[in-house]
Amino acid sequence: MQTILKGTGFSNRIGRAQLILRLQQQVNELRAKTNESTKELHNSTEFNSWLKEYESNNKCEYVLQTGKKKSKDGHRSYYECGRTGVHKEIVSSKRSIKSQGSKKININCTSHLILFEHLNKSSCHVIFYKYHYGHQESELQHISLPIIKKHEIAVKLSQGVTMERILDNVRGNIGSNLKREDLITRADLHNIKQKYNITMQDGQLHKNDATSVDIWVEQMKQEGENNPVIYYKKQGE
Ligand SMILES: [Zn+2]
Repeated sequence: MQTILKGTGFSNRIGRAQLILRLQQQVNELRAKTNESTKELHNSTEFNSWLKEYESNNKCEYVLQTGKKKSKDGHRSYYECGRTGVHKEIVSSKRSIKSQGSKKININCTSHLILFEHLNKSSCHVIFYKYHYGHQESELQHISLPIIKKHEIAVKLSQGVTMERILDNVRGNIGSNLKREDLITRADLHNIKQKYNITMQDGQLHKNDATSVDIWVEQMKQEGENNPVIYYKKQGE
């Protein structure tokens, strides 16, 4: 190490900075590896439930990167820590920089998961690199609201429940183990309204209740496998 870092002059300083960065990256990767664990699960549904529970218990979030990568014996999916990545500032919108800072840490966190789904075996295999780098763990304000909570709130909003009532309800039910949904803000509710295209008139999506439900069910279909509606029969069908 001494030999590598030796040198004087401007170009050497740049080289040294790059080298330190590279060494730091290697240290991080080694730390991530020493925290590596493996897990066997029956299928991707079981994996999704396990991951959701892990995220909830550990106040973190993992994001699926790109599509599944095929190999001879199955396919693999990569999940990165949700804090990895570069913060993109939206200049044109009214959104100002959040007081708690950005979710994205502008570098790559070392924590990630690889899910292997085997073709010939009825099982999944997970490699999990738990060590986080570049941010504090358990920063609830930097993880997303669970999708199921967003659905629940969208239903309430579409039924005409006011934002104040939803916020009061959340604040009145905070337990000792703080969860992301306990930190719901008015901004979250506005985002949900926008995402689910809930435009209210007299407290309803539409004057006819049945039509409101139809609209909501149609919106949920856009969620693909996250669609919480299993079966729906229209009025009069
Ligand atoms: Zn992380």
